[in-house]
Amino acid sequence: MPLLQCGNWVLEGKSSSAVATYIRIKELDLIFDLGRCPMNFIGTNHVFISHFHLDHYFGLPIYISQRWLAGMPPGNIYVPSSGFKQLKNILDRISTLDAGRNWGYQITPVEAGNSIPFRQNLVAHILTGNHSVPAVSYLICEVRKKLKPEYRDLSGREIVALKRSGVEITNEVQLPLVAYLGDTRGISLDAHPLLTQCKLLICECTFITSEHRERAKKTKHLHLDMLPSLLEHFESEYIVLNHFSRRYTPELIRQEVFKQLPASEHARVHLFL
Ligand SMILES: [Zn+2]
Ligand SMILES: [Zn+2]
Repeated sequence: MPLLQCGNWVLEGKSSSAVATYIRIKELDLIFDLGRCPMNFIGTNHVFISHFHLDHYFGLPIYISQRWLAGMPPGNIYVPSSGFKQLKNILDRISTLDAGRNWGYQITPVEAGNSIPFRQNLVAHILTGNHSVPAVSYLICEVRKKLKPEYRDLSGREIVALKRSGVEITNEVQLPLVAYLGDTRGISLDAHPLLTQCKLLICECTFITSEHRERAKKTKHLHLDMLPSLLEHFESEYIVLNHFSRRYTPELIRQEVFKQLPASEHARVHLFL
């Protein structure tokens, strides 16, 4: 299984268009899409599904049933609200067929504009995707408490005293960590005020050659020639391209990506093949 190190995070999984996409960042206890479910993903507690194309959610029955069989609490699965009922229906039927009863699972429908707190200090902002079926993108932020500016010059003792007296001395700030675009023809830069500051951007790049420009447009995917004008707006330290069409060999992908992207982008662009 491919591994990609991005600072303190390791991306694990696979992503190949129409085959399967599943990417785990264990350090954040989350998985983006679950087209298949490797056994070592079972213990990860948060799963964010971008849309209901089979190669992005087909691993869910394995994830749910393996946790159920192991006596683990259900994981937290987030899916676009548009397919929520149909998905529950499918899972209930599979679980009845498999176990004669319901596995018990936890699925939360999400839609653009929602903010979902998870773990102790993370929040997932749901952004609008632009794909051939209803889809969402995710922006994961860390929530931190920061001392209000008016209290910055106080001593430790004075701050403790204020806190004890019930004064709210901190503001909440959010640090944009990871944006996962899922399958999409693009992303609106103002989908969230922190989007372009994310530390890691995971961006689909399904098509790379000029003969597939029309196909990318028709199937609502990004084409490599759209990336320079998109990426220039992102301050991200790491940009990971995923979801390449299986028409292309890894050698061709590498060659075309680094030929078509400006040299200034090369150091931060990584391929998830
Ligand atoms: Zn896909
Ligand atoms: Zn898709």
